[in-house]
Amino acid sequence: MEAQGQQRPPAIARSYPESLAKTGDLIMKSLSSFSRREFVTLAAAALSLAAPKGVLALVQKEESGKTGPPVSPDDAWRNLLNGNGRFVKGTPSSPRRSPEDFRGLAEAQYPEAVIVSCADSRVAPEILFDVGIGDIFVVRVAGNVVGGAGAVVKGSIEYAIAELNVPLIVVLGHSACGAVKAAKQHIDAKDSLPGAINGLVELIKPAVAQSKGAPGDALENAIRENVEIGVERLKRLEPILAPRVKERKLKVMGAVYDLRTGIVTPVEPGKS
Ligand SMILES: [Zn+2]
Repeated sequence: MEAQGQQRPPAIARSYPESLAKTGDLIMKSLSSFSRREFVTLAAAALSLAAPKGVLALVQKEESGKTGPPVSPDDAWRNLLNGNGRFVKGTPSSPRRSPEDFRGLAEAQYPEAVIVSCADSRVAPEILFDVGIGDIFVVRVAGNVVGGAGAVVKGSIEYAIAELNVPLIVVLGHSACGAVKAAKQHIDAKDSLPGAINGLVELIKPAVAQSKGAPGDALENAIRENVEIGVERLKRLEPILAPRVKERKLKVMGAVYDLRTGIVTPVEPGKS
């Protein structure tokens, strides 16, 4: 993620002891050339070498977003889109994958977006958005189902919002999704799929039913409808998500990833 504008430096300047002045000075001199995330990683890495653990924890607590979202929802989305653009062109920057990066994040995380995506092996959010370790909080479940998925999926998303103050949730469907395809194939059949697959597919059937008869490709329509249903469910999810959406601290949006082009396209509500 490139320059994000919202550099919020110096929790450090207020909290670290004199003995760390040198490290801090070096960091401060470098601030203007680093994004917020790069700064946090650098600071955490530098302090982990020099600082008592309590100081590091204090810095990270301040940087963990308790005082406000690290970036705006729109900035977070722009960062994802920029990364997807690099991925599509075949020029990924593959950021933040070095030992310095993961060491720097060992005690805290600062993801900028929650991605609720399908478990499909071809839909790997960190890769298709060209982001690095700690950048996105990914919840993957076949068919990217939210409604009816139970406490595990919703609780994972709520954790990211309540505890990590993430400003953006993207429900990410994808073309040719096998889970949606199964729901479409079995919606009128009285047959039952084996194991728990049946229960999963049942959760997607409403998307197939609601998009039935719409112009265009029926499977693509159902895939978009399934995303929209997930977005609407999350926007209204009390008590953690809905109030934040109303206060515009959190944005919930849908998008679809195209397996052939690699392009992520936002889903516009009502166009399924
Ligand atoms: Zn899928």
